[in-house]
Amino acid sequence: MFGRRRVLAGFGVAAALGLNGFALTQQKEYKPPFRWAEPPVVAPGEKPGDPPADAIVLFDGKSLDAWENGNRWEVKDGYAVVKGSDIRTKQKFGDVQLHVEFATPEKVDPKQKGQARGNSGVFLMDRFEVQVLDNYDNGTYFDGQCGALYKQSPPMVNVCRKPGEWQTYDITFTTPKLGDDGTVVKPAAVTVFHNGVCVQNHYELTGKTDFWSAPSYDKPFPAAAPIRLQNHGNPVRYRNIWVRELRPIVGVPVEKKA
Ligand code: MG
Repeated sequence: MFGRRRVLAGFGVAAALGLNGFALTQQKEYKPPFRWAEPPVVAPGEKPGDPPADAIVLFDGKSLDAWENGNRWEVKDGYAVVKGSDIRTKQKFGDVQLHVEFATPEKVDPKQKGQARGNSGVFLMDRFEVQVLDNYDNGTYFDGQCGALYKQSPPMVNVCRKPGEWQTYDITFTTPKLGDDGTVVKPAAVTVFHNGVCVQNHYELTGKTDFWSAPSYDKPFPAAAPIRLQNHGNPVRYRNIWVRELRPIVGVPVEKKA
């Protein structure tokens, strides 16, 4: 009995001192200096990849009505096939989370190599391309392969599925901030998950991605612009495209008591 009492007494001392050995009476909980707005409740999609309740569905497998020139692409069997021209969303977007599913053509022409095999692209703000390409067994310049930010950043890894198989992009994008004199205060930033694997981690873009010219930012820079899908002459398929507009979290500084 004596030994048990000793153990209990030991617990009492430990509780009084706290884990770090400081008396609990002297500790004060850290309170962040902001009062936050309550995060709204959003129902997630039923299964991974499904649009959450606050998403804007850009293509549900039936209609490309949300897109300029959407009528030029072929819509069948729940997907859309690239044809004729690029397509741009009628709505303009700034900071976004974007989900896109795509499949490069199953039939591979061995004569088509490099940039000629399954080429398309997802353009953020109409000017920053996340490359779509069949690089399953097809080499090209690294900053032009699937998952690259075209001519700026190769993907960290190549996680392409076989031609014809459905693949996913989950992208977040933050608009750049330019000063009144056109200087870049904060560059645009992109994170890309390709088939669930991070291939771009908050990459800071140095400007629009272009084949012909070095990256630069338009001055003045718009607050919002369309999302664009590229026609590069290859019948790449798309399905299940949705976007969420990202808004800053609101916090009101808590005034310190004098
Ligand atoms: Mg492309």
